[in-house]
Amino acid sequence: MNRKIACRQCGKQAILDPSNPWRPFCSERCKTLDLGEWFGERYTIPAESQDDFNDAADLPPPGLPRHQ
Ligand SMILES: [Zn+2]
Repeated sequence: MNRKIACRQCGKQAILDPSNPWRPFCSERCKTLDLGEWFGERYTIPAESQDDFNDAADLPPPGLPRHQ
């Protein structure tokens, strides 16, 4: 039984079935386009989480005694 949906990228009919490797898209092209847009949006968002990671890397390891 093939469930059919509208392709999220182009709106054409896409088969929601394991036989369609590009589901929920209709084709490889549409899936690639959607991923491209997703990464494009992500690239424009300031990487706040990356800044947090860098700050944590500058801190001494927790649990060390401080002799000062
Ligand atoms: Zn499509």
